[in-house]
Amino acid sequence: MQKRVTWVRTLVLSIFMSASPLASGSTLNVIASFPVLEDLVKRIAGDDIQVSVIVPTGADVHSWELTPPNVLAIEKADIMFYNGFGLEPWLRHVVAMSDDSLVLKSVAENADIIPLAITTGQYKGAVDPHMWMDPQGAAAYIEVIAETLAEHYPAKADAFYARAEETYDALKTLDKMIEQRLDGVPNTNRSLFTSEAGLGYFARAYGFEYAAIWGMNNETQGNADAMAKMSERLNATRPPALFYESTVDCIHMDALARETGIALAGPLYVDSLSSQDKPAYNYPAMMRHNTELIHEALGGARPE
Ligand SMILES: [Zn+2]
Repeated sequence: MQKRVTWVRTLVLSIFMSASPLASGSTLNVIASFPVLEDLVKRIAGDDIQVSVIVPTGADVHSWELTPPNVLAIEKADIMFYNGFGLEPWLRHVVAMSDDSLVLKSVAENADIIPLAITTGQYKGAVDPHMWMDPQGAAAYIEVIAETLAEHYPAKADAFYARAEETYDALKTLDKMIEQRLDGVPNTNRSLFTSEAGLGYFARAYGFEYAAIWGMNNETQGNADAMAKMSERLNATRPPALFYESTVDCIHMDALARETGIALAGPLYVDSLSSQDKPAYNYPAMMRHNTELIHEALGGARPE
């Protein structure tokens, strides 16, 4: 009798497991494509869902190649959140290997934020995927994450929406803090020059001129033509500093800094968080670190 009951329960459970949305008592297995998104998903998931990540902290999300542990994790996952707009070129392998039971959700392609176009390199004209670099973009991601989790795990929907509200408030406060801090950077110094064009949304949000050596994905990795163009622009603009990013080799910016005699500052964290013992250990810390670095390098006024 006991055996039969167990069997029936297993059968019922397996029917529920294969259905969507989840029945109460089940839980979700969620995976995020890269650490910034993992951090945002965890803010909504709380203790209700286990969240893992494909690209580890510090690695380059654009050039990542799936590992055997990644493949196992994807096979076990119910939902995978990815950025989209071409940020993860390796996503096509996930699509090829997954069946209908994996929900693949792009946060950027569903985000309620006005997109920017990439302005240089081989992806020129395509949508710039780095929307999280504006806290309002991150807030738009939060909305997609909360709605997706609530849809597939309705028993916890209230908790997801409550955490989303808290996160919106925190992002609003963060946005204000960044704006006020960067108000201290003089108008003549409000220019950001980086290796990859990942700061477009940040520059739009806080009123900076912005240019990069290449558009996205390490593409041509700063070929001679792109380097010459940037050098010309730097000599015309003469900004106080150039910036390099944590996931990109700084040799290109270093060469430009030497050539032009302009200071080099960094790293800015854009495509990854840092390890826990470094300053960009989570999303708000990453944004605060970048703000302080930019403020310092571009000659922001110091508080009294
Ligand atoms: Zn990038």
